[in-house]
Amino acid sequence: MSPTRRSFLGTIGGLAAGYALAPALRAAEASGKPLGLALCGLGGYSNGELAPALLETKNVKLVAAITGTHAKGVKLAKLHGFDEANIYAYDQWDKVAANPAIDIVYVVTPPGIHAQNVIAAFGAGKHVICEKPMATSVDDCDAMIAAGKKAGKRLAIGYRLHYDPYHQELVRLAKSQEFGPFMKMTSANGFTLGRKVWRIEKKLAGGGALMDMGIYSIHGCCMAADANPVAVTAKELPKTRPEFFTEVEESMEIKLEFANGAVADIWTGYNANRSEFYAEAAKGWYKGVSPVFSYRKLNISTSTKGRLDFGVFRQQQRHMDGVAAAFRDNQPLVVTGELGRRDMVIIGGIYESIKTGKKVELKYA
Ligand code: NAD
Repeated sequence: MSPTRRSFLGTIGGLAAGYALAPALRAAEASGKPLGLALCGLGGYSNGELAPALLETKNVKLVAAITGTHAKGVKLAKLHGFDEANIYAYDQWDKVAANPAIDIVYVVTPPGIHAQNVIAAFGAGKHVICEKPMATSVDDCDAMIAAGKKAGKRLAIGYRLHYDPYHQELVRLAKSQEFGPFMKMTSANGFTLGRKVWRIEKKLAGGGALMDMGIYSIHGCCMAADANPVAVTAKELPKTRPEFFTEVEESMEIKLEFANGAVADIWTGYNANRSEFYAEAAKGWYKGVSPVFSYRKLNISTSTKGRLDFGVFRQQQRHMDGVAAAFRDNQPLVVTGELGRRDMVIIGGIYESIKTGKKVELKYA
């Protein structure tokens, strides 16, 4: 273990030791060597969350970087103890393919280029983790899934909340129906975007707040319903800064309808800091308020247990360890490309409803 890794673990070791790992993950940890991972795109999420989490993971380690800025790769190479020869530019997929230390490429670039990066990584013969939203169209999702099948490699999406115990409790309640089925959900997710970044460029982001933040509310409501919505109605809200949001929406309201009659009302926007979620069933509720979908210190309660407390951990460590174990041990995954595609079908329906002003029936096949 490198000195840096040891000192980092020293500071968080006490916290890490307290992790209650899921039995499946514990079993997987014991069964084999860590896989090697290359981060593709070294922006805020890679450097701020994924790279630190990769100092804690057991089933996967950072062995390479694919970046437009070599110096960023050098920093990571020093911190994670990999060879600087394993830093590649975005057009060096042949070299990525030739490096047997890389088992997984984690694509953390803007959504508009996810498909291009993912398909190239499959072409290089690697497994892939792709950040959310999976792509900017269902057609791209299909092409990504097909490329994985052709390469005989697996695809996972960066849906870290499936590995978060607060959200696992929502899934447990939904599946066990301990409170009965959740029939009414409300959620809001957004932040005030002040900087001109790719998030407001249609080509790179695919859309506005919906693609980046609303997707969490949609995903949470599907977890609560334990089903995919059958119809969606949405309306874009008036822009407060039309000069800033010239290509994408600033905010919107969405209604999802489920086959059993459950309904979800969602707000998403880039003009207010909001993070809320509420799911109500006949015999109880699950509620979260600021933060609900974020990385840590989630404020989640249920009608029976009050405020939940699962201690300190990194969702990203759990997510990457879980996905890597599934890849390595050929186990099933929940956070599949098909799940990422499901969300793109819903998102496509939302934009269609905004365009037509009508309810849109969703078709997943
Ligand atoms: P960012 O802008 O901080 O980083 C994006 C990186 O992509 C930069 O390093 C940039 O140089 C690189 N890049 C490569 N090709 C590019 C191109 N053609 N145009 C622009 N940039 C290019 O963004 P981020 O916040 O790190 O987001 C990256 C991805 O991660 C997005 O898909 C985002 O939705 C996702 N994300 C997920 C979470 C999560 O909690 N799962 C959190 C944040 C971001």
